[in-house]
Amino acid sequence: MIIICSENGEVGIRTAMEVLKGGGSALDAVEAGIRLVEANAEDHSVGLGGYPNLLGTVELDASIMDGSTRMSGAIGALKGFAHPISIARAVLEKLPHVLLVAEGAERFAQEMGFDEREMLTEAAAVAWREKLLRVMDATTLAELPERQDLWRWVRLSSDPQRSGGTTNFIALDNAGNLASGVSTSGWFAKYPGRLGDSPIIGAGNYADSRHGAATCTGMGEMAIRAGTARSAILYLQQGATPEEAGRRVMEDLDTLGGPYLSGMNVLILDAQGRHAGMTSHVEGRNYLVLTDIMTVPLKLPRTYIPTRQHWQET
Ligand code: ASP
Repeated sequence: MIIICSENGEVGIRTAMEVLKGGGSALDAVEAGIRLVEANAEDHSVGLGGYPNLLGTVELDASIMDGSTRMSGAIGALKGFAHPISIARAVLEKLPHVLLVAEGAERFAQEMGFDEREMLTEAAAVAWREKLLRVMDATTLAELPERQDLWRWVRLSSDPQRSGGTTNFIALDNAGNLASGVSTSGWFAKYPGRLGDSPIIGAGNYADSRHGAATCTGMGEMAIRAGTARSAILYLQQGATPEEAGRRVMEDLDTLGGPYLSGMNVLILDAQGRHAGMTSHVEGRNYLVLTDIMTVPLKLPRTYIPTRQHWQET
């Protein structure tokens, strides 16, 4: 039994392993681990305390995938609910669908009895205001909800290197099944309604118990365009190790063109329990690993593979 996660999963990885040790499934472990990251108001990239969109509203994306059946559930642009990963799991279990967004996702969450709450914390609201006042005056900020040119401001206010963050969990259980989950508040100051890669199965999340599972954090638009998580599993299927598969998806990302290119982080766990973490952001990023015979999670360095990055602001 093994769990790997992004560094911000530290608050949840031990609980996730307890779930596996108690006989829970990989899907149970992934959900349990991510719920604790979502509840951590100090983490401004996931759940409670997540940074809001351009209009100051927190919109959450999440997905969860069962590698044994490839059943998946995802929600996007969800407002006002505490645990998007559990709502995504309910989509997987209760509906014939994979992805619900915005009002539909909120309606479903209400029907399922999930807790509603304001997700914008005081700290995130202050950070939002300060961030936007760096690129616009107070009058423009006050007028934003009525303005017809949000598309201009989103290019100025979104900072590719410092605006994002996501939590990634992958678990391999005693029965040999893999599951993967991703949860995020997405890009700080994103355009309202924008979905990243986290709720897109195949982009930010993919699990197939025959081969492996992969999850992403970073510029979601790039993982969507390159089909990053699904590609990683196809590379495993073709015989690559997790490290080789990780290198190949980073090379694929490096061939993308256009005016908006930023960094990506990928985690891969294969069906044999081998793993790799990659980053194109900066050297020195890590990921966490915990097996059933370890008492504390091990922090391992991600392989740094620089890719072209540039951001056209105007
Ligand atoms: N991948 C996330 C998104 O694009 C953000 C991040 O991980 O930085 O919404």
